[in-house]
Amino acid sequence: MKKLAVLLIALALTSCGNKYKDTKNTASDYQIIPKPVSVTQKDGRFLVDKTIIMGDEALRNEAEYLSQLLTIASGKKVSYAPGGTRLGSVIHLGIDESIEGEEGYTLKVTNKEIIISGKTSKGVFYGIQTLRQLLPANSEKQSVAELTIPAVEIHDNPNYQYRGMHLDVARHFFPADFIKKYIDLLAMHKMNTFHWHLTEDQGWRIEIKKYPKLTEIGAYRNGTIVGHYPGTENDNKKYGGFYTQDEIKEIVQYAADRHITVIPEIELPGHSSAAIAAYPELSCFPEEPTEVPNDMMSEKSKELQENGINKVVQESWGVYNDVYCAGKEETFEFLQNVLDEVIPLFPSKYIHIGGDECPKANWERCPNCQKRINDEGLADEHELQSYFIQRIEKYLNAKGKRIIGWDEILEGGLAPNATVMSWRGEKGGIESAKQQHDVIMTPNHSCYFDHYQDKDKENEPLAIGGLTTVEDVYNYNPHPEELSAEESKYILGAQANVWTEYIGTTDYVEYMILPRMTALSEVVWVANDTKNWDDFKSRLSAFKDRYDALGLNYAKHVFEDKPTEEKSTSTEE
Ligand SMILES: [Zn+2]
Repeated sequence: MKKLAVLLIALALTSCGNKYKDTKNTASDYQIIPKPVSVTQKDGRFLVDKTIIMGDEALRNEAEYLSQLLTIASGKKVSYAPGGTRLGSVIHLGIDESIEGEEGYTLKVTNKEIIISGKTSKGVFYGIQTLRQLLPANSEKQSVAELTIPAVEIHDNPNYQYRGMHLDVARHFFPADFIKKYIDLLAMHKMNTFHWHLTEDQGWRIEIKKYPKLTEIGAYRNGTIVGHYPGTENDNKKYGGFYTQDEIKEIVQYAADRHITVIPEIELPGHSSAAIAAYPELSCFPEEPTEVPNDMMSEKSKELQENGINKVVQESWGVYNDVYCAGKEETFEFLQNVLDEVIPLFPSKYIHIGGDECPKANWERCPNCQKRINDEGLADEHELQSYFIQRIEKYLNAKGKRIIGWDEILEGGLAPNATVMSWRGEKGGIESAKQQHDVIMTPNHSCYFDHYQDKDKENEPLAIGGLTTVEDVYNYNPHPEELSAEESKYILGAQANVWTEYIGTTDYVEYMILPRMTALSEVVWVANDTKNWDDFKSRLSAFKDRYDALGLNYAKHVFEDKPTEEKSTSTEE
């Protein structure tokens, strides 16, 4: 009798579809973030059993990604078999030119098959990410007994072409494995850009073979202030690290496999203390000792300075006067040589050159800088900064790269082809769009994930300040009302920035980005007028199970029932 039952089930599976073919699905089966443009709920479920993935060789990367995902989730081998014979159910991956948008896709699930089509392989990848969210959350890391997927038809396409996350690895350094984890998180959220902030006053993090001291000296500081700036003391612990060029190549490839572009940031002309510690001649005043504010310098650095080593890697936070000298030709030679090694590592069309927070005090009293102002007929030090940026832009443009800079690059005149990242609110972004320059919105009030995320700051880990709740992020609209429809075309998208002065561990990074990044992923994917906080919040509750399954450390405030919250409007830094 038992044998007969098994035989009947086997027959049922092979001849007339699976036993889930008439299952009634409910809205709770389709909790997807970011919300797709259209989701049509259907009856029946696809059973992952003797399933193979078919599709063109050009989609091998996506097929193998999906294969890995479903093999873990189902506990059964789901292979990519482009020319294979079907024994059970099939998932087809394909390119469909008729799909709207470079990153658009359709996903059709029936009880018999799954079809994922993209205009490009990018779209196919996003279709796979959506399929992933139709699987039970607990299948992220371990198999479920019988893996089924609810039938559905989804058409989807992002609203913004630039969907980014930034990470400062200079104030604090995070190992290559964590960078990959971060990239995996971006992929899960259909983000397409990772902005990697690699150089700072407090550390230089990228190996440059022509200038070995950048990492021998510049990648390590002799101590760090304790507590919030200006600090209570110096911990006197050597701190640092860097990525080798081989590690960077591996990470860039890892990201590319997940359709994520990595944009490196090499800060200039400010935030350059670490480079200057390695090569003091880059400073206007190589003999002037590095100052750590409020007498917070480490014992080791004091000792070095007593022995005539004037420049040290910065140990406190903030903005420093000791910047690259804009008068010396050697500065440009150095930066061009650095960029010559950066360019081949990053296929991205953009290189971020910083351009923010560059005090002009040293330039004002440096004979070389003053001579440059005179020789070039510049009005003042702001035009000297503009000269600096434009000269670097010209160099990079000639190498086929474009620059992105923080909104300070507007001061003294924008470089002709520059894209502007608007961080001091939206003002710089609005001004740049009016000047017909591309803009990426990263306003501090909505997109600074180093801010506190709950008003009860006493019970939060130390942060830089501010207050940006998940809801604040969700309510952000990257299109400012001040812009006309024509001007709005210059807004490429938005990004959140994760500055890490006070974020010293990978756990804390996760806590600061989740779930705010999940909110941002919807901001940059859907049209603003289709957003709905309550609807998002209910999908977020389901998404949270995925954080749990993946063992992520996320902030829980938004999931706690709290008495009516005051609306947070803080924009303080
Ligand atoms: Zn100078």
